Amino acid sequence: QPRYVNAVAALDTALPPLQLLDALQAIELGQGRERKAERWGPRSLDLDILLFGDRLIDEPRLQVPHYHLHARAFVLYPLAELAPPDLQLADGRRLDALLAACPFEGLQRLD
Ligand code: AMP
Repeated sequence: QPRYVNAVAALDTALPPLQLLDALQAIELGQGRERKAERWGPRSLDLDILLFGDRLIDEPRLQVPHYHLHARAFVLYPLAELAPPDLQLADGRRLDALLAACPFEGLQRLD
């Protein structure tokens, strides 16, 4: 797919996880996103929940930590700008170890 912009944000919410997912999907739809059968293709907007405090969530509609977090440099490096370097995910993995295994290659940092 063509080049895309990715960012990570930290937020406080009173919503439980599935309601937060509903709210994010409503924003995606509000921004004109169409849900297509092709799951990993280009999309106008994709909002994912990477982490939810120290919660480990395994629901049919929601897995947290996000299932591809470890393999995506464009997620790990922006996350590391917000998170403490020794962050431990709810499943025991450490962010610094995930970063060490995932090179920065192919990314361009935007100011
Ligand atoms: P996507 O194509 O990235 O929008 O993801 C498709 C589906 O992944 C969504 O409809 C969610 O139900 C599911 N999903 C599972 N875990 C997550 C997560 N941590 N964040 C966002 N979506 C998730």
